[in-house]
Amino acid sequence: MRALVVTGPGEASVQEVPDPVPAAGQLLVDVERVGICGTDVELYTGKMAYIDQGHTHFPIRLGHEWTGRVSAVGDTADEWWIGRRITGDTMLGCGHCEYCAAAHHHVCPHRFEVGIRDGWPGALAEQVLIPSRFAYEIPDHVSVTAAALVEPGGNSLRAARAASIQPGQKVLVLGSGTIGLLAAQFAIAEGAEVHVGGVRERSLALARSLGAPHTWQLADLADADSDQFDAVIEATSVESMPALSVRLAKPAGRVVYIGLSSTPSLVDSRDIALKDITAVGILSASPGLAGAIESFASGSVVPDPIVSEVVTLEDVPARFEGRRGENAGPGPKVHVDPRLGA
Ligand SMILES: [Zn+2]
Ligand SMILES: [Zn+2]
Repeated sequence: MRALVVTGPGEASVQEVPDPVPAAGQLLVDVERVGICGTDVELYTGKMAYIDQGHTHFPIRLGHEWTGRVSAVGDTADEWWIGRRITGDTMLGCGHCEYCAAAHHHVCPHRFEVGIRDGWPGALAEQVLIPSRFAYEIPDHVSVTAAALVEPGGNSLRAARAASIQPGQKVLVLGSGTIGLLAAQFAIAEGAEVHVGGVRERSLALARSLGAPHTWQLADLADADSDQFDAVIEATSVESMPALSVRLAKPAGRVVYIGLSSTPSLVDSRDIALKDITAVGILSASPGLAGAIESFASGSVVPDPIVSEVVTLEDVPARFEGRRGENAGPGPKVHVDPRLGA
């Protein structure tokens, strides 16, 4: 089959690789759509922390935001899955440790991460393998675009839930990338008055069209009044934003950290304590996947406008380099259909 292979920092190409064969407990999926995200770009450039930490080595097979149909199973017990439309968790816990036993498999120290960590091949390929215990069925009426947004959707849903939103509350989402815009949509669905801070005017216009009544340039927020928002969801990669989030939150409010900068983003814990702020960190979509599928299936959140274009596997290296197609829309997310250009 064809797969995108990152052979070293800044080097990627589509290659013919051995067809994957499902082992017992695994599903073989014909991939229909895959998103590429900031984590993929960091792995491509070699800057992702897991590479330094020894969790990830070149060559890397990327792709962790995907949907497709099950075409084969490794075990008769899983035959029910054949022909089903699914997505899968990225975080494949060992199933035996204290974290897995407590349903916290996304922080299992022995975990694989599909397309990211310890060599589990990702979905930027014609086919991908996923253990059936990490598969999620997606109803047929959900668009293929939305189905491939379940993974970032699960992250964003968790961020919105961590903000403990009451209808009518003012929520600031910092960042107008995929996670920021999806978190804004989930917060709007919970009845919040959502403000979005970002840089690209096209993304901020998209945020307004998705139902956020107010948008800000990040630079202007540095001078904004303190104590304005019931909750702040920080989804940027800008190192000054985590501390700004605490300043802009109201006393007794909440700050949710899901963005990661490439350098330390320092917060003075006195500011958190003296305002009685609840600060929450979010890693991974795992506990949010089922909820994201539900929200997309019910139509309470329609994430499709986030996607700007659908490209081939061959187009992916150029997208990692930041180039966009001539007809790309305003959304931050690029999708890949591995069946195109075959
Ligand atoms: Zn991602
Ligand atoms: Zn475990």
